[in-house]
Amino acid sequence: MPVRVVPVPALEDNYMYVVIDEETKQCGVIDPVDAAAIQTAAEREGATITAILTTHSHWDHAGGNVELKKRCASVEVVYGGVGDGVAGCTKELGDGDTFALGNSTVQVISTPCHTAGHICYLVDGNVFTGDTMFVSGCGNFNSGTPAQMAQAFQKLLALPDETKVWVGHEYTCKNCRFALFADPDNEEIQRRLKWAESCHSWTVPSTIGDEKRCNPFARLGSLPMFDNEPGGPAERMRLVRKAKDDWGRR
Ligand SMILES: [Zn+2]
Repeated sequence: MPVRVVPVPALEDNYMYVVIDEETKQCGVIDPVDAAAIQTAAEREGATITAILTTHSHWDHAGGNVELKKRCASVEVVYGGVGDGVAGCTKELGDGDTFALGNSTVQVISTPCHTAGHICYLVDGNVFTGDTMFVSGCGNFNSGTPAQMAQAFQKLLALPDETKVWVGHEYTCKNCRFALFADPDNEEIQRRLKWAESCHSWTVPSTIGDEKRCNPFARLGSLPMFDNEPGGPAERMRLVRKAKDDWGRR
């Protein structure tokens, strides 16, 4: 039986997720910054929270870990990336590690850059990308290099196109506006921006295939700004990040 994912918005634009193993009704929760809200959401689904899965140490992702563990006696483990300093972490994970969630298996994809120990979680065709990959966007490089982010994107983009992408923030409209600025003739992005602007709720999940078509950080090889421009993925990642930051300051 598959897992079922329930997104739960938090704070201004954060996403938390309840990931339910349907066979056992055990669930893991991703980045439960609002402990009360995620507990209510899990209860509404008839699921028991056994694990907290933290993508990275920033407060707006890990800030509810300790409270949720206090509130839910069923929580057995708090996962976080090696060396990331995640609040309340009881088990650190590295690239390729796996663990059980009910009868499902979760795999860890290490994506250091936004934080030094940022990780993504892959389970049953769903990837939880935290602040590494957004819908049509990318987290900032707080603790890493463009080469590291380029490598992180390469790992995520190697997943099957139909993999569902569940991101850490709802930034889709703004991201699509920059994506169109960087890739003006891309009709898929034009369509996506219209759709995102008309969405009155969330824009998750995306898919890896959609990100390949609509995310400038995933399209380093085909952006018009790089026509006749040499440079490998790391240099292009640096330049797209800089273009986005400059665009955001206009
Ligand atoms: Zn963050």
